[in-house]
This record gives sequence, C-alpha cells and structure tokens, in this order.
Amino acid sequence: MQKLVIASNNPGKLREFQFLLQPLGIEVLTQAQLGITEAEEPHHTFIENALAKARHVSRLSGLPALADDSGICVEALGGAPGVQSARYAGDNPKSDQRNNEKLLQDLQGVTDRRAHYYCVLVLLHHADDPQPLIAEGEWRGEIAHEERGDGGFGYDPLFWLPELGKMSAELPRDEKHAISHRGKALKVLLEKLKIM
Ligand code: IMP
Repeated sequence: MQKLVIASNNPGKLREFQFLLQPLGIEVLTQAQLGITEAEEPHHTFIENALAKARHVSRLSGLPALADDSGICVEALGGAPGVQSARYAGDNPKSDQRNNEKLLQDLQGVTDRRAHYYCVLVLLHHADDPQPLIAEGEWRGEIAHEERGDGGFGYDPLFWLPELGKMSAELPRDEKHAISHRGKALKVLLEKLKIM
C-alpha cells in the first residue's frame, strides 16, 4: 500500500499520523486535500464511528482509508466525555480550550481523577472491504487541576502522567507516540499489515 487517506480533519491527529507513517514510505493524504467533507459520527461506540469515517472516505476517494476514533474516558464521570470528546463543550465550533474548561468544571471537588485515552484504528482497503484491519490502544493517567504544557492537542495539557511527573502536553512528540493510545494502536495495526 503506497497511498492512504487519513479520514480526519483534526489537525492534531493529522500531524501525528504524518509523523508516524511517512517514514514507512506511505504517502499520507488527508480528506481535506481531496475535498471530502467530514462523515457523521452518530454512534455510541468508538469502533462504529471509526468504521463509518473510514468507509465514507474510502468510498469518496477510491483509495484505502485509515480512520481513528479516539477520546478520553474519565472514571468519575462514568466514562464521559468518551465518544463525545471532540465536542464535549459543544460543536459550534469544536474547541479544545472550552472542552478542557468544561472538564475541569465537571471535576470540581472530585478526588478520583483517574482517566484513560482510548483509540481505535480502522483501515479499509476499499469501501466495501469485508475484513477491515482493526487495532486498539489505551493510555492511563489522571486529570490534573490546571493546564500545563503546549505540546500535543486536545486534553493533553490536562492529562497527568504520575510515573513521569509530566502532562502529556509536556512530552516531546516521539515520547508521546512511544506510550500513547494512538502510538500503541498504530504499532498493532502495522504489525497486522506486515503479516498480510
Ligand atoms: P474524534 O475525532 O471524534 O475521534 O475525537 C477525538 C477527540 O478526542 C479529540 O478531538 C480530542 O478531544 C480527544 N483526543 C483523542 N486523542 C487525543 C490525544 O492524543 N490527545 C488529546 N486529546 C485527544
């Protein structure tokens, strides 16, 4: 496979995928470059949303498509924001800053700060591919009480890693990928691709 369309318009995710896939000789295109609009994400599970996004982009581009559906799940909030992570504070427009503010507000006075990022990747060779490649990854941490760091994207300035004594937004890019939910999922996906 030489060309792959990333089924996302999230600039943070696109930067991460380009960083991870280009060294492998895979030409990474984005759906925006091809003029493809975002798919609906109406489902209650990450995997259903990822499949919907990959199928939409593969159908319209005629190329293999890789979709990521990911989010942060906070234990004390029963797993929220979960699949709503990108639009936790509303989607008109989506805003990482407002999402982080809302998360801090929702956790005011809450002592259990445990949370995890989750990522599922779906690769479709073509829109009707009956055997999508699927890979998952998780990354455990805690929600801090205030934001710190300017790396990464989304909830990274609030995602505290007790063993490292840092926020994920304070990690250099390659260190984040070595341990992140997306880095882990991609490693599994690439192993599966090699076997094929
Ligand atoms: P999706 O585009 O519907 O999959 O939404 C993903 C959302 O989850 C992003 O917009 C972020 O809010 C959050 N998210 C997923 N992965 C990360 C990450 O690596 N760092 C920070 N936030 C993330």
